[in-house]
Amino acid sequence: MTKSEELYKKAINLMPAGVSSPVRAIKPYPFYTEKAFGSKIVDVDGREYIDYCLAYGPLILGHAHPKVKEAILEQIEKGWLYGTPIELEVIFAELITKLYPSIEMLRFVNTGSEATMAAIRLARGYTGKKGIVKVEGSFHGAHDSVLVKAGSGATTHGVPNSAGVPEEYVKYTYQVPYNDVESLSSLLEKKREEIAAMILEPVMGNSSLILPEENYLREVRKITKENDVLLIFDEVITGFRLSEGGAQQYYGVKPDLTTLGKIAGGGLPIGIYGGKREIMEMISPLGPVYQAGTFSGNPLTLSAGFTTVKYLVENKPYKILEKRTKEIVENIIPELEKLGYSTSCIASMFGIYFGKEPKNYSDALKLDSKKFLDFFSLLLKEGVFLPPSQYETCFLSVAHSEEDIEKTVEVMKACLRKL
Ligand SMILES: *Cc1c(COP(=O)(O)O)cnc(C)c1O
Repeated sequence: MTKSEELYKKAINLMPAGVSSPVRAIKPYPFYTEKAFGSKIVDVDGREYIDYCLAYGPLILGHAHPKVKEAILEQIEKGWLYGTPIELEVIFAELITKLYPSIEMLRFVNTGSEATMAAIRLARGYTGKKGIVKVEGSFHGAHDSVLVKAGSGATTHGVPNSAGVPEEYVKYTYQVPYNDVESLSSLLEKKREEIAAMILEPVMGNSSLILPEENYLREVRKITKENDVLLIFDEVITGFRLSEGGAQQYYGVKPDLTTLGKIAGGGLPIGIYGGKREIMEMISPLGPVYQAGTFSGNPLTLSAGFTTVKYLVENKPYKILEKRTKEIVENIIPELEKLGYSTSCIASMFGIYFGKEPKNYSDALKLDSKKFLDFFSLLLKEGVFLPPSQYETCFLSVAHSEEDIEKTVEVMKACLRKL
C-alpha cells in the first residue's frame, strides 16, 4: 500500500470523503502532497507530477516562487496578524484600482466565496431590490444564494442544488444560459423591477472552460445597463489570469462591481470585492450594508498577493504563457479529433473536452466525464496532474518550461491513444 492510500484510509473516517473540499476526493484515492516547487508537485510516496491544477488557479507563478516566499518570510519576522490597518493595504489597493479602472474602492476579504457574498449583498442593499441573475453552471463560491446549478464540485458530484439551502433563499436567484443574450434580455424585460444584479464569470471556469462568444459580454453590459441592473464580474479566476486587468481589460467591458481572489493572494487565502465609489460607500461603517472579517487584509496574504501581482505587472508574462498554453492545445488536437473530442484555450487556461466544445452548461453536461477521469488517471501514472474533473479548468504558470510542455504533449498523445 502506498503512503497516500494509507492516509486516505484514515482520512475517510475523519472528514467527509476524506477531504477538506469535494473536488479533491479522487477515486480510488487522492495523492497526498509532500512538497511542491515551480511546475512540480511531489507526493508523499516520492512521485513527481507536472502540475496543471495549480491549486485550482491561484499559482500563476508556480509553486513556492522565491520572490513570494521571501515576501512571506519577511512579513513573518514582523508578526503575521495585527487587526489594524497596514501600509501594504493602501499600496495594494492603489495598484488594484490602477489595474482595474472599474474598481474605485475595494475591500479585502478572505476567500472568493466571501467576496461574491458581500458583492451580492451590496448590490441588493444599493438597489433596494432582491433578485439576482446568475448563469447556469457558473460557480461563485459555496454560499446559499448562488448554490443553484453551481458548477465545479457541485457539478462533478451531481448535486446542482444543495440540501440545506431553504427554497426561500434561492427564490430570488434567476438563471440564464451562458452565451444567450435573448434569454437574458427577456428575463430582464419581465423582472427588471425585482432584479438587483447579474453576476457572471466572464469566462466560465467551473463547468469546464467555456469561452464567451463574440460580443456576448458587451451585450450583457448593454442589456444590464438599459434595465438598471448592476453587473458583477466574478473574476476570482480570470483576474490577473487573462491579463493584469483581468477579463474586463481583455474584453474591454466595464462592470459595476468586481470580485477577485485566487491569484490576488499569491497562494494564501484572499477575496476582494470592489467597484464604483457610490456603490462601495454603502458599506459599513460608511453605509448600511454590513460586512466584516477578523482575517481580512491580513499582512501575510497581502504580502504574498502584492508580490505576485507586482511580478505580473513588472514581467508581463502573458504572451509567453499564452504561447505555451497554445502549444499544448494545438499539438493534441489531431489525437483528440480522431476520438471526437475537442479542446480550447484562452491566455493560460485550457480545457480538454470529452465531446464537443461546450457553449453553455447544458452542453457541458453532455461531455463524457467518465472518459475524462480515465484520461486523468492515465496521465497521473505518467507524471502529469490535471484537475481531477471534466468540470474544472487547467492552468499554466510561469514556471512551466518548454521541456515540461514537450513532455506533457507526448504523454497526452500517448494516453489518448490508450483510451
Ligand atoms: C474559486 C471561485 C470562487 C470561490 O473562491 P474561494 O476562495 O474558493 O471561496 C468564486 N468564484 C469563482 C469564479 C471561482 O472560481
